[in-house]
Amino acid sequence: MKPNVRTFIGCGAPYEEAVAAVFGAPFDSTASFRPGSRFASEAMRTDSCGIETWSPYQEADLEDKHVIDIGDLELPFGNPMQAVSEIEQLVRRLLTDGKKPCMIGGEHLVTFGAVCAAAARYKGLHVIHFDAHADLRDDYMGEKLSHATVMRRVWDVVGDGRVYQFGVRSGCREELSWALSHVYTEMFGCRTIGRAVAGIGSAPVYITLDLDVLDPSEFPGTGTPEAGGVSFSELLAALLEARCLNVVGFDICELSPHCDASGVSTALACKTLREMLLAF
Ligand code: MN
Ligand code: MN
Repeated sequence: MKPNVRTFIGCGAPYEEAVAAVFGAPFDSTASFRPGSRFASEAMRTDSCGIETWSPYQEADLEDKHVIDIGDLELPFGNPMQAVSEIEQLVRRLLTDGKKPCMIGGEHLVTFGAVCAAAARYKGLHVIHFDAHADLRDDYMGEKLSHATVMRRVWDVVGDGRVYQFGVRSGCREELSWALSHVYTEMFGCRTIGRAVAGIGSAPVYITLDLDVLDPSEFPGTGTPEAGGVSFSELLAALLEARCLNVVGFDICELSPHCDASGVSTALACKTLREMLLAF
């Protein structure tokens, strides 16, 4: 008998056969504005039954892809360091077992744990980052581990020239000026994704998607909405252009279901995760 356990749609492969593992990292303790992203993974599992496993964009079916949904981590609220460490441990284990990690945040800080594990396993790791915010502060109100510093912590691990940011339209003067000499940032859009694809070549790459990169008119359900974002179609086109890369893991963060009264943001997040699972 098949276990009657709710998973993200089309992600019911047995662990031994799975090539990719979806898991939730329900942590939002450092959210500085509206929290709630800790509820994203469960909301996406529930609402994923409203979309198809078939992608007309990629002419592929999630049911053919051998993906498992292993559920959510239990993370210690109020302890970012321990939460990051537990995410890192899980991702290390998945990589050792040959399963591509596909994480549902949570606030964006969760990415740091996954990148630490991926960078330890893959020399020369690059990171592609979609976000309305640069997330490059060295500290945020004195805290080194925060959703607002996560890409600076990622840079600490991967180094200069290895982070490619797209869709950024918010940041303080200091972090945006720091960015000029340390990372590649396309402000306001993702039209130059080809530059990242060419620069990265065959090197291993981790993709992190902070969903607030999308325009709030299409994606209102997030803690820190920022006007002037990319459309779903533009984001999808950029993701599909990155399909040829050696993607070793990815995440999708910052859906906040309580800010999503109509459910459209959760539906968009589900569709985007399906496309990422098929593409990478
Ligand atoms: Mn972010
Ligand atoms: Mn953001």
